[in-house]
Amino acid sequence: MSAGRFQDKVVIVTGACRGIGHAIALAFAREGAHAVSICARDPSDITAKMESIGAKFSAYTEDFARLTQKRASEVIAQVVKDCGRVDVLVNNAGIIKRAPIVDHPEADWNAVLQINLSAPFYLTQAVCKWWLATGRDQASTDARFKVVNIASMLSFQGGILVPGYTASKSGLAGITKAFANELAKERMNFNAIAPGYIATDNTKTLREDPLRSKAILDRIPESRWGAPEDIAGAALFLASRDADYLNGTVMNVDGGWLAR
Ligand code: NAP
Repeated sequence: MSAGRFQDKVVIVTGACRGIGHAIALAFAREGAHAVSICARDPSDITAKMESIGAKFSAYTEDFARLTQKRASEVIAQVVKDCGRVDVLVNNAGIIKRAPIVDHPEADWNAVLQINLSAPFYLTQAVCKWWLATGRDQASTDARFKVVNIASMLSFQGGILVPGYTASKSGLAGITKAFANELAKERMNFNAIAPGYIATDNTKTLREDPLRSKAILDRIPESRWGAPEDIAGAALFLASRDADYLNGTVMNVDGGWLAR
């Protein structure tokens, strides 16, 4: 592995076993990072890919449906113990549940809010506590901790059939700014990416519906679904030194969707 922008940085990517998180973790690894995946399922696929490119990689299995504040602290403490430190946290793991708003099931609402909003909140709290207590003192005097949250266009729009998802992603954009407001001065950056329509399991239902698929494609100036790799470049930029003066931003990576 040749030296890159993230040489020897420890980068946690939640939900790196597939989809957008998978592409982000591989992109960091290709730039020299020690990538750390936290997924709910078996990480053997991404483990094999990391091995094939000679990357340093660690995988942890955790179900965010049950992640508490206390458990998030334990998870981060374990990563620090095993990997020595943490430099970047990418809160990517997320789910979506579709049902009409009036009948939207309580269980779906709670699951989406827990996985998409509470879990990133607890993990970010835990890395912040570690950085403020220990990490910052162990790092070089100009080093910064970077948090990148994967938000959504539904951080800005209402969406259809997905009220829990909209609430969670609007909340994630909100706490991105809230963390920045309190902690930017502690050499920390908190930013988010709002992906457009990306071809992953998350959008499978839409892509398989010819009418919805056509309506979506007709509005995207790029005239194509995004690829997970389209999001990886923005994540690397936000985690890099080039973005040291960005704090509390939500960057649209949407092929122009929101420009319409
Ligand atoms: P995806 O292919 O469905 O991947 C979701 C990831 O989240 C998986 O790695 C999954 O891990 C993880 N995850 C789900 N439930 C989990 C749980 N209970 N505990 C731990 N991890 C869990 O979806 P994606 O499109 O890549 O989505 C990644 C992020 O981008 C999400 O936050 C999503 O909301 C956001 N996003 C996606 C789009 C899009 O168009 N695709 C647009 C805007 C925002 P396992 O594999 O272990 O289940």
